[in-house]
Amino acid sequence: MEKKRIAILGATGSIGRQTLDVVRQHRDLFEIVLATANSSADLLAAAAAEFGIRDAVICDPACEAKLKSLLSGTSTKVWVGPESICSLVQAEDVDIVVAAMVGFSGLAPTLAAIRAGKDIALANKETLVAAGAIVMDEANAHGVRILPVDSEHSAIFQCLQAAGGNKVAKIHLTASGGPFRTWEKAAIAKATASDALRHPNWSMGSKITVDSATMMNKGFEVIEAKWLFDTAPEMIHVVVHPESLIHSMVEFQDGAVIAQMAMPDMRQPILLSLSFPERLPLDCPRMDFASLGKMSFFEPDTDRFPCLALAFEALSKGGNAPCALNAANEAAVKAFLEGRLSFYGISDMAKMTLDGLDFVASPSLGDIFNTHEEAYRKVCESIR
Ligand code: NAD
Ligand code: MG
Repeated sequence: MEKKRIAILGATGSIGRQTLDVVRQHRDLFEIVLATANSSADLLAAAAAEFGIRDAVICDPACEAKLKSLLSGTSTKVWVGPESICSLVQAEDVDIVVAAMVGFSGLAPTLAAIRAGKDIALANKETLVAAGAIVMDEANAHGVRILPVDSEHSAIFQCLQAAGGNKVAKIHLTASGGPFRTWEKAAIAKATASDALRHPNWSMGSKITVDSATMMNKGFEVIEAKWLFDTAPEMIHVVVHPESLIHSMVEFQDGAVIAQMAMPDMRQPILLSLSFPERLPLDCPRMDFASLGKMSFFEPDTDRFPCLALAFEALSKGGNAPCALNAANEAAVKAFLEGRLSFYGISDMAKMTLDGLDFVASPSLGDIFNTHEEAYRKVCESIR
């Protein structure tokens, strides 16, 4: 493989830091030229120093002075604000952009990178939930590959390598079920942020961890799969698989199912998104089948986890509905994490938003930004 130059958007988060570890294992093949963070100046400065990163962007202006002082005397240039991310991702020598910011904030820089012809290693699923049609059209128009980082989508992508152009009958999207998989509804109703943040199999950022607890994350992944693989929603089936060993499966017309398995470790899909079509060595935990013993599968329960049904509803409505759902969820999850909203308040806010939506069938990018701001604002107001 020829050496690739990488930009990491959200370099200080869970995916960002695991991307740094992947690069650490292959210093001869990957070079980081740009890294960004919202406010974690310490982590960003440490990464910039370790990897000799040329450009570092901090979004929050209040953290600029700290980052500058941490990086004084080094060769890293410090920039500030989201506009800097949008312009620096376009740099001539960037080969691939790891989109690992959280939420709707990832949309503008991901689009800027696509328009500059950069391949995207996509972790930031909210970008496709909010603006899937626009993002995929732009990617096609600019000949850009969107390589999935999300473990389920990486799994589907890997299974599809076996399709050889043959028709796919079904996609089986696996879900861990999250920390409340076995809880009664009455107990889930009283769940706190610290309960929701205890994910059984994955250590992730707080927003996606809450999304996993509500199963909104799985709903978003259904929408993400629809766009990435150009699939009809009816073909995507969610199955709960608490062990998180099978990361998803593809079923063919003859009934054969190809599954992708690995120990739950995001560095595997991250590395593949960067090295594809090659597979490189990775120091990570391995499958030991005899000691793993068994795998189990269950039907998802949309009564205890209404967010999953709401995401299917938004997907079938189409237009700006998934964007509004995403915005409502972002505002509601923030309030839940701050102790200002109950667990089922999140699905209530999502339902209220879909029910009251000012529907736009074929939203422009401007419509998407308006829908996001409007839905976010309305949810904040009703929580207040
Ligand atoms: P995280 O909260 O750990 O990290 C988020 C990163 O984005 C940080 O570097 C932060 O500084 C930056 N950031 C946050 N808000 C920002 C803003 N407004 N402007 C600019 N930068 C901002 O999140 P994470 O768990 O790494 O998840 C990142 C994305 O990857 C999410 O979209 C998530 O759904 C997706 N994802 C994560 C995992 C996982 O295992 N963590 C798995 C699959 C998909
Ligand atoms: Mg996932």
